[in-house]
Amino acid sequence: MNFRALRVSAVAISLTSICAYSTAAASAAEPSTIRAGSIRAHLEFLASDLLEGRDAGTRGYDLAANYVASIYEQIGLQPAGTNGFMQRVPLRSSLLVPSSLKLSVQGAGGIKTFTDADHVAARPSSSEAEQSLEAECVFAGFGVVSPEHKRDDYAGLDVRGKFVVVLGGPPPGLPSEVAGHLGSTAEQRSRAAERGALGVFIVYTPALEARWPFVRLASVYAQPQMEWFDPSIPRPAGDQLRGFALIDETAAAALFERAPRSLQAVMKEARTRAPRGFELTTRAKFERRSQHSEATSANVVGMLPGSDPALSTEVIAFTSHLDHVGIGAPVNGDKIYNGALDNAAGIAAMLEVARVLANQPQKLRRSVLFIAVTAEEKGLIGSDYFASKPTVPRERLVGVINLDGAMPFYQLVDVIGYGADSSTLGASLKDAAASLGITISPDLEPGQQFFTRSDHYPFVRRGIPGRPRPTRVGPRRRWPW
Ligand SMILES: [Zn+2]
Repeated sequence: MNFRALRVSAVAISLTSICAYSTAAASAAEPSTIRAGSIRAHLEFLASDLLEGRDAGTRGYDLAANYVASIYEQIGLQPAGTNGFMQRVPLRSSLLVPSSLKLSVQGAGGIKTFTDADHVAARPSSSEAEQSLEAECVFAGFGVVSPEHKRDDYAGLDVRGKFVVVLGGPPPGLPSEVAGHLGSTAEQRSRAAERGALGVFIVYTPALEARWPFVRLASVYAQPQMEWFDPSIPRPAGDQLRGFALIDETAAAALFERAPRSLQAVMKEARTRAPRGFELTTRAKFERRSQHSEATSANVVGMLPGSDPALSTEVIAFTSHLDHVGIGAPVNGDKIYNGALDNAAGIAAMLEVARVLANQPQKLRRSVLFIAVTAEEKGLIGSDYFASKPTVPRERLVGVINLDGAMPFYQLVDVIGYGADSSTLGASLKDAAASLGITISPDLEPGQQFFTRSDHYPFVRRGIPGRPRPTRVGPRRRWPW
């Protein structure tokens, strides 16, 4: 596993806290002020070798979860899980059987076969041990459907029982966060599934390549992949797609061999506008074998009740992921990936924010639900489970603030409010930034689709406004989704 570059994310509440961090020493005795020492103490324990990198489903993670629950208790938060502070997340681990992944394309010049060693990358199936799917292929632009933006890449196409081929990366002509959301693989899969497709092949465009090299996908997907697995909750449509793979331009070109337009022409057009879809008149066969095992891990959930009789029914979720990637390939003899910054630091900051908010002389009017989520590193799984099965009525959740990769060791000078203008959180961000004397900057890297890549996003997908994500220019996070 790789060390991952980190993200800073927070909004109004935590921004205040992080900035206060640098001056906290002077007022360390004040219970309602952020204490640098508290953050350091949490961080040092959570990132210690004892916890073995806090991989979801391991003893190290469980120790970390118990630690967080103890701190919640000490602060005086109310247990808000399903078992005290814990919300058990049932997990299914799936492993792709080596060399079983195969994409065969019946083109003009006979059958071409691509394997996981070169041009096709896929996770294991989480539901089927053995798959051999065969169907016609249809190209559907970026696979975007948004009446609000007058976009329907499926217009005039019948994709029932077929493989949909779409371009990956943010579609052109849309605002950054909107493009990030509508062009995310989750949304692309959902749109295809809703239209009855058998599977989706996403063409690995230069925008995706810039984020994560295609050649490295296979080694990541060769690792066990996790999903929450709870038969009592219907899974999102996109998860019900039977086939899903990322393909490079060589494999994509084979799918386009008999098409009315070449892949090259389509990709050139896609730089400025979304190309229209069409039948590819190619058949493809998609094969893979997968092995499954079960595990559990917990989200740790504590409630700080609001003080206002009316407004306290409204709940702000404050999320931060507790897991990291565990034990992996040794670096200089050290095989524990401690995840100090990603995301022991975020949890440490969240715990200190919780303590300070609980100690404010003037209580918050709304309730705050602190959630240390599990399995972010496996694909936002703990947060997705919570958003699917919240421990408070979903209609009470009015917003989510997420803290991932807190790095309080530089002077914070500006923030980027991802999604800020899509909800009233934007006004709070502006107020907080103004009061702290920092500026708000535009999204500098729209190609990264950051808005879709942390634990607020599963909430956003279910209509709960996500946080603007303050950050600054720093090390880049590069990770496949
Ligand atoms: Zn993280």
